[in-house]
Amino acid sequence: MARQVIHHEYDAVIVGAGGAGLMAALEASKRCRVAVVSKLYPTRSHTGTAQGGIGAALGNLEPDSWEWHMFDTVKGGDYLPDQDAVEVMCREAIDVVYSLEHMGLPFNRTPEGKIDQRRFGGHTMELGKAPVRRACYAADRTGHMILQTLYQQCIKQGVAFFDEFHLTDVLVSGGRCAGVVALCLATGELHCFRAKAVLLATGGFGRMFKVTSNAHTLTGDGCSIVFRRGVPLEDMEFFQFHPTGIYKLGILVTEGARGEGGVLLNGKGERFMERYAPTMKDLAPRDMISRAIYREVQEGRGVDGKDYVHLDLTKLDPDVVERKLPDITDFVRTYLGVDPVKELVPVQPTAHYAMGGIPTNTNAQVVADAKNSVLTGLYAAGECACVSVHGGNRLGTNSLVDIVVFGRRGGRHIAESVGKMELPPLPSDALSRSHEEIGRLTSNLGGESAAAIRTELQQVMMDRVSVYREETGLKEALATISTLRSRYRKVEVEDRSLSYNTELQEALELGYLLDLAWATTVGALARTESRGAHSREDFPKRDDANWLKHSLAFATDGNIKLDYKPVSITRFQPKERIY
Ligand SMILES: Cc1cc2nc3c(=O)[nH]c(=O)nc-3n(C[C@H](O)[C@H](O)[C@H](O)COP(=O)(O)OP(=O)(O)OC[C@H]3O[C@@H](n4cnc5c(N)ncnc54)[C@H](O)[C@@H]3O)c2cc1C
Repeated sequence: MARQVIHHEYDAVIVGAGGAGLMAALEASKRCRVAVVSKLYPTRSHTGTAQGGIGAALGNLEPDSWEWHMFDTVKGGDYLPDQDAVEVMCREAIDVVYSLEHMGLPFNRTPEGKIDQRRFGGHTMELGKAPVRRACYAADRTGHMILQTLYQQCIKQGVAFFDEFHLTDVLVSGGRCAGVVALCLATGELHCFRAKAVLLATGGFGRMFKVTSNAHTLTGDGCSIVFRRGVPLEDMEFFQFHPTGIYKLGILVTEGARGEGGVLLNGKGERFMERYAPTMKDLAPRDMISRAIYREVQEGRGVDGKDYVHLDLTKLDPDVVERKLPDITDFVRTYLGVDPVKELVPVQPTAHYAMGGIPTNTNAQVVADAKNSVLTGLYAAGECACVSVHGGNRLGTNSLVDIVVFGRRGGRHIAESVGKMELPPLPSDALSRSHEEIGRLTSNLGGESAAAIRTELQQVMMDRVSVYREETGLKEALATISTLRSRYRKVEVEDRSLSYNTELQEALELGYLLDLAWATTVGALARTESRGAHSREDFPKRDDANWLKHSLAFATDGNIKLDYKPVSITRFQPKERIY
């Protein structure tokens, strides 16, 4: 069965229809012809699961300022964030939240009708004095509301949607991006999109770990595809574990639950966070709380000697829990048979968020080397990108800000740039990589299935490259990943049909996960310090003299070469991180 090829031309193609992609599409479509290519129906994107809130210093309930938000973000990220980018994000967060409100986003309200705000980990007033109410929210469905709001605006604006189209390649010719290739899942056709600008907004890759809050679709496709095309990946060793995943399942219980007053208890019923973070306690940043849970468990204070602790919401007003946290209450009742209003909820850290990704500048343009040289025509925004506003550890509510702020900036930059440009010529072999990759997977005979390799990958990443890391374990993980990569070359997709071949799609996704796990582990082995979410038992201290720098992983001839670039420090000099 030959795969048909269909050609399209647009000013801009946005890949991904989460918050970042839709915001970029909305902005760009004000001035040019835009297509959105998404492997999911847009409102199924992972942004729709974001629960707790979007941070912006509106100061609706108590004094707040974008400078405090900036300080918290820089400190939360263990001084690795680029401060010029953080400043842009925290300043523009305010305007972007109001513009979402004006588009119709149904935020929770204060009695006077202002946008309500709640507390979240690491967000403080007056540079660390006390927790502050900064997270704007729509119950525990904030991301869902962002997605619905932006999607309807895009429809109104006439954006062309190619839903259930899986990106297979990003085309680069004459040193600039010329378009993308995508597989139509319904028909098996390959579609070639020639475009003046391409913005990748393909989301994260938590699926490389066994226990994760991430949807099955979060396999880092965009990151891996451009990595194969020679674009480096930045700060891949920083992967966040969220402290409160539902035990064994990894499904997230939002930090908003602690923002509303929930507390963590160890097996002895103690509020252990008081010992690790005397001021912020249960609202310390996620990296610290995840490590604290691991320590409690290691020292025998897990619940019933097992590897979990309890989240206690029983002291809260049941009405607040039902009203402000309805979805997570429902999850806990459904998946655990536990009623969080009356009983303790078993939780453990769950792989949650990729701080690293495709390096960009503050206009979301991809920068392809340590000198920040722009790769013309290629943009990235949202979780797949690394601008870098989160550095070593992201604060809760800052991803939703990141995706809408930098999605909007990318969309605007595209709108301003493409008018002056001609459509770039397509490379002569535009379709060859996609044909070759799909052809190999569907013609291998007698190979194993993708599922077995994926399970082993997720296990080794969970065991060796998670909250705590050390040299021997990382080397073991690298050896396993290398074996799994060779086994992957022989994977056989038995289903040869063209329509909705999910076996083929999963095999492609496994290839991406293997690349990203490899880059993560290589970066983690090289970084001989502990900073943010990257915690080396053999190098427990932060080492600013040698490691206050971003890593860049390049794929070269079957190997990974690391390079480094400086951190932008404008207002806040690195200090010890005490909460
Ligand atoms: C359970 C959960 C709760 C969260 N809660 C919060 C919160 O309260 N506050 C906060 O700030 N952050 C939160 N986060 C993080 C935040 O939601 C995400 O980081 C953010 O929404 C990512 O948005 P995005 O637009 O970059 O990508 P996503 O929303 O993940 O969208 C990715 C898009 O890329 C498309 N795509 C991927 N691969 C391909 C391909 N090969 N071809 C075509 N399309 C492709 C998908 O179809 C999808 O449309 C949460 C995350 C999770 C998992």
